Amino acid sequence: PSSPLTHPSRAKGVVPMGYVGPDVQVDAAWQRVKGMLDAITAAKEAGDEDLEASLSLTVYSHLQTLSSISPSTFYSLLLAQLPLLMPFVYTPVVGAACKDWYGTIGHTGLETGVYIDGFESSKSDMVRVLSTYKESHPSVQAIVVTDGERILGLGDLGVHGMGIPVGKLHLYTACGGIDPAKCLPVTMDLGCNVEAIRDAPGYMGTRRGRDLSSDEFDKVMENFMEAAMEVFGRNTLIQFEDFGNKNAFRLLEDWRGKSTSFNDDIQGTASVVVGGLLASLKLTEGIDRLADHTFVFLGAGEAGVGIAELLAYAIQQETGCTPAEARKHINLVDSKGLVTAERENLQHHKQPFAHQRSTSPTTFEESVKLLNPTAIIGVSATPNTFTEPILAHMAATTTNPVVFALSNPTSQAECTALQAYTWTEGRCVFSSGSPFDKVVINGVTKVPGQGNNAYVFPGIGLGAIAGGATSVTEKDMYTAAVTLAGEVGEDRLEVGCCYPELERIREVSEIIATRICGDVWEEGRGGEGERENAREKVRECMWTPFQE
Ligand code: NAP
Ligand code: MN
Repeated sequence: PSSPLTHPSRAKGVVPMGYVGPDVQVDAAWQRVKGMLDAITAAKEAGDEDLEASLSLTVYSHLQTLSSISPSTFYSLLLAQLPLLMPFVYTPVVGAACKDWYGTIGHTGLETGVYIDGFESSKSDMVRVLSTYKESHPSVQAIVVTDGERILGLGDLGVHGMGIPVGKLHLYTACGGIDPAKCLPVTMDLGCNVEAIRDAPGYMGTRRGRDLSSDEFDKVMENFMEAAMEVFGRNTLIQFEDFGNKNAFRLLEDWRGKSTSFNDDIQGTASVVVGGLLASLKLTEGIDRLADHTFVFLGAGEAGVGIAELLAYAIQQETGCTPAEARKHINLVDSKGLVTAERENLQHHKQPFAHQRSTSPTTFEESVKLLNPTAIIGVSATPNTFTEPILAHMAATTTNPVVFALSNPTSQAECTALQAYTWTEGRCVFSSGSPFDKVVINGVTKVPGQGNNAYVFPGIGLGAIAGGATSVTEKDMYTAAVTLAGEVGEDRLEVGCCYPELERIREVSEIIATRICGDVWEEGRGGEGERENAREKVRECMWTPFQE
């Protein structure tokens, strides 16, 4: 074997495969990616956004190829450089890839995954397609399925939404140690309502609108769920991802009790946000329990209602109150204003949070002035909505306002970290969905937390798989939140941050998984085992690169 410094392949910048040792391979891959990252930095500094965007897609495409030709090399690299590379494997670059790379000349369409024609396939067709995949992947444990209707904050991208299940499963492997050979990304082709996408020459799906009725949609998904469980087993983890909110809540309700499934947009988000809120209690003067807060949310969709429900669950655990009492702490504002009992034709998922009010403010600012929140949560995908008057009002009415501006990508965030700290005289506890740099305010350094779902879903999935779970429950989401909050170190709290370091994500996943695996066994909803053996079981289930 030759030394990493002299191997000829490295000098040429290609990834040597096969006969060289792992270190050389990974090092060569890193040199190549690093070269591209440097070029991106240079493009950014020169203000050349087009070049920055096209180089970012080049990195994405390069990493995808690497992941299929040498999973071990890809995951070694990803794990070694997680904070740097996560944006190229998942948000924000995955969004650009779904928009501008899938269906183009650079995209081979050969990613490991399955596209299913939802219009034409019967259940037995689906069984056949999945069985074919099983021939090369005999023990699938985790499936992520989308229909591409609501990709990140980008809307309907049709079958080019495939980037999302592919990317989510990369994170399952990197952060949760799920063997990549046991992962299956699925895109259910149910049409696309954006003509410009479905009529483009390279579009890979059915050129038809999303014209199925709710009943027809439910039947297609029933066929898929039954086929998947028949082929891969009843306890296969099935994660619903980026479905539109007219179907997502119903799909989750339909399958919660009958499969090992959850929806990351609704429940994973809820878990990571409640985790951050629990940690923030150590930073807010006079507010020691969630029940001491008045919450006002901007956004009442999948993320908003998901967070609100888990928050209400957490308040019940804290105080022993009823669900209705817990929900009184939580107020939602949607595109029409404050959600109140007086509003007509309210969507089903908002109704539990429609409180009786003497007035019905139509804006977020009026709602804040009426309710005097101690915490505001932004999940509306509308930027510049946490304004100076709103934050100044909070700063005048509470010592440490909690401000979570969670909308992604960065361009959609309700406010920036700098704005939040500036407008609250440095007293707020701030977290965001996309990363923000640290801020120095009045000589004090503040590190904004990133409420990234990747802190929780890989650990929840790993725990469910290790435990052989037959379900994923609301309590699992709460357990993950509490565990995550417990992993935020003093050093992080000192700089105002309510999430652990991103570098610790695999360790945190293992801890979450251990708790959940133990719970699954104790509650008798899966395999058999003693809690004291859960850690070992979880470790056994974790794949590491270059492991035989
Ligand atoms: P969604 O289901 O489409 O919901 C969006 C909500 O925002 C709806 O309730 C909508 O009101 C409301 N809204 C839209 N425009 C508004 C406006 N101008 N004023 C007030 N409310 C407005 O989307 P989602 O899945 O909840 O995602 C929302 C955002 O959260 C996205 O940007 C996503 O990236 C972000 N998110 C972040 C994380 C994270 O940081 N970990 C996780 C998940 C989601 P109507 O109900 O009246 O239409
Ligand atoms: Mn999602």
